[in-house]
Amino acid sequence: MKKFKVRQSVPVEQIGEYMNEWQCKKPNCVKVDVIGKSGIYDIYRAVFTDTDVPDENKQNVLVIAQHSGMEITGMTTAMSLGNFLASDNKEAEEFLKKLKIVLVPCPNPYSYSKQSPEFQFRNEAGIDEYTAFGYEGARMDGKAPAAEAIQKLIDEYNPELLLDLHGIWGENQLVIESCGNSAFAHNKFYNTALERRLLSAGDKYGIGQYDNDFRQELRQTDRGCTDEEINARFMPSAKGAVAPVYSYVKYHTIAASYEIAWEQSGLEKVLEALRAGCEVNDYEYYSGYPTRTVISYGHNFVRAWGDTAEKRRKSRIELWEKRNKILVGISHPEYPGLSAVIVSTSPKLSDKHIGNYYRPMREVCENMKSQPGVNADSMMELFDDFYETFAMASLELGKQTEIVNGMTVRIGIPFKDAKVRKVLYNGIEWSPGELEGYTVTKSGSWVFVDVNVPPDKVVPFAIAMVKYDCTTPKCGIIEF
Ligand SMILES: [Zn+2]
Repeated sequence: MKKFKVRQSVPVEQIGEYMNEWQCKKPNCVKVDVIGKSGIYDIYRAVFTDTDVPDENKQNVLVIAQHSGMEITGMTTAMSLGNFLASDNKEAEEFLKKLKIVLVPCPNPYSYSKQSPEFQFRNEAGIDEYTAFGYEGARMDGKAPAAEAIQKLIDEYNPELLLDLHGIWGENQLVIESCGNSAFAHNKFYNTALERRLLSAGDKYGIGQYDNDFRQELRQTDRGCTDEEINARFMPSAKGAVAPVYSYVKYHTIAASYEIAWEQSGLEKVLEALRAGCEVNDYEYYSGYPTRTVISYGHNFVRAWGDTAEKRRKSRIELWEKRNKILVGISHPEYPGLSAVIVSTSPKLSDKHIGNYYRPMREVCENMKSQPGVNADSMMELFDDFYETFAMASLELGKQTEIVNGMTVRIGIPFKDAKVRKVLYNGIEWSPGELEGYTVTKSGSWVFVDVNVPPDKVVPFAIAMVKYDCTTPKCGIIEF
């Protein structure tokens, strides 16, 4: 029989010293400090960023190894990342200019100090630090100090990306590498393109990466279904939340756990994730992780506003928190050449202007005439009698709210050659502009028009419209 040997890592009493080396090497780019205590041990954090570059344009990435009690390859991969970021590598320097990367390789040093898988799910108080989380955050009774420390970090940085590195404890032990394949079904990226990209990066080393498509099953999202025979045909999921799910629920973070068997492929996936945060994403308009879209109505969206990462983070979190009170609708049916989106935060005005779900667009415009800052006539000119209705989504009726950090209303046009002719906000023609005005970004065959509404121009009931030219494919029965 094989004898169990624990995977090599930094001894628990040397973790602080090991991490402090990073700060000694690059004092301008690394700050190491203590954020809590687990048993008799300090919990260390390292913040990596180039302090010569202002923070306002940086996105935040949190890399934790929350199961590092005994999932040692999670910790050693995080340590490897620290070594890379503290090196003179050109790409590392690039990352630190564009991102703030917060690293906690061993949040649970008490369990780690035991060097025994028996402590994987058990800290000093006999509690599993990983599942000491819920949708509302970590238990704060002092019995789960690692979970508490991680929640405080999530609340401090409101990260765009959170990676929770998991893995194995034994020498030569195997775990199937994965990203976002967790007992908690929502512990996964909402951006599946990014998930796929990371898995391909691990694949480079000839290590099979677990693909969620292998399962050929769906996630059950019907909360009303209690039929066990039906539910058994969907992917099972653990109850409650873990840190990545909390970060998503609270801050709209792209977040997931990774399983790591080999530090080389594990690190490569993390680096690929950092690369993605430094690139311009066609869909996003700005560089960084695709986190701006907080409310969707088909191909129309309400998105975070602002010309810096900091402004967009603030706006994203506000809109995300108020998501259930922001009503979004569209003019319907749609015809090539004109699209309109309505955004309302006032149940009273929604009721007054639209009433019970449907109303001709021209009538809605007529009703808006009493609203200040509205040119109803210029909207009525564009809506002929075909545009009869609004289809509305999302408002928790009776709950008024107010948007104070600006918003971007995105209108998706499904024609590659679409040319924007006119953009109206409440009937007033707007010019191009990143803070007040519109911007256009192309992604595949889509042309996305973002109507960027600054805080002082957000009103409780607004219509954003785009008139455009395009060519469409031929229609009618095709004969051969
Ligand atoms: Zn784990």
